[in-house]
Amino acid sequence: FLRLCWSNAASTSTPSSLSQNECSSDALSLVVPDSNYLMASSIFHDLSSSSTSLLNLQTRQSIFVSKDKVKDFEKTQLRIPVSFRKKAVNLQMMASGKTPGLTQEANDRTYEATTDNFNNNTDVFDDIKQRFLAFKKLKYMDNLEHYKKLADAQAPKFLVIACADSRVCPSAVLGFQPGEAFTVRNIANLVPPYESGPTETKAALQFSVNALEVENILVIGHSRCGGIQALMGMEEVDSRSFIHNWVIVGKKAKESTKAVASNLHFDHQCQHCEKTSINHSLERLLGYPWIEEKVRKGSLSLHGGYYDFVNCTFEKWTVDYEGSRCKKEGSGIAVKNLSVW
Ligand SMILES: [Zn+2]
Repeated sequence: FLRLCWSNAASTSTPSSLSQNECSSDALSLVVPDSNYLMASSIFHDLSSSSTSLLNLQTRQSIFVSKDKVKDFEKTQLRIPVSFRKKAVNLQMMASGKTPGLTQEANDRTYEATTDNFNNNTDVFDDIKQRFLAFKKLKYMDNLEHYKKLADAQAPKFLVIACADSRVCPSAVLGFQPGEAFTVRNIANLVPPYESGPTETKAALQFSVNALEVENILVIGHSRCGGIQALMGMEEVDSRSFIHNWVIVGKKAKESTKAVASNLHFDHQCQHCEKTSINHSLERLLGYPWIEEKVRKGSLSLHGGYYDFVNCTFEKWTVDYEGSRCKKEGSGIAVKNLSVW
């Protein structure tokens, strides 16, 4: 079951906000319903009444809706569609605890699941329609003034660069509300080098940094990243593969991982590369002259984040610009303010 969602990266229009769909993305989603999705939903549901909820319900409650409405809303948002449950059983993807590789060949099972999805399309969109109507009633209409202001302009403080993986939606995990985060998502949350040709990620960087004047760029990596697995697993670049030609952006992260962790199990090498690649992306951001200038002047900060959805932890750190300048060229960046949530 593969669904691709395209939408604008504007901070006011994330699919997750509009349809309350935890599986959607801001740019491109590869939605693979599996028991991990069910597990994550169960965890969120269990925690919804807790003051330490990962969904930051307290904040969301105070900004947008009354306490009673939050409860009703959570019931709507966190209900797992019947059609998704069916696919989860069909696919049995979590049996091995592995993420299906991006380069995995189509087989009879995926063909069967795709056909099943086609027959149940009405089901899927019925549910999404209900989520949108719930958003409209409980969030939009109750905060009309706020949304009217957003209709005129956006002034997000964050540019978020996250993976397209359906399990790591920044709005769902970090509670970004419409207008708070300009978001670009691509496979493996990579930032291409300034010198290479134009890409949609670079267009998002240029617009959000120079026109919107965001104050923070947050690059978020995650556990069991299929894009990093593709990068680490490929012997050579297949010129016909769009995936290969994209993830090769992380080549240096792969090389430095192989240099220090080649004796580890492949899964651990990938985990190492997932984190290393974030810092390489942050370093490449400093190669954009208009980003470097703003960081130097103190009007822009660069941050890394790593979301481990197996243990549900989030690591956050900030680039130490002065410390990075003191390092030898090619020896990476210095970081500060590392915290684990
Ligand atoms: Zn990923």
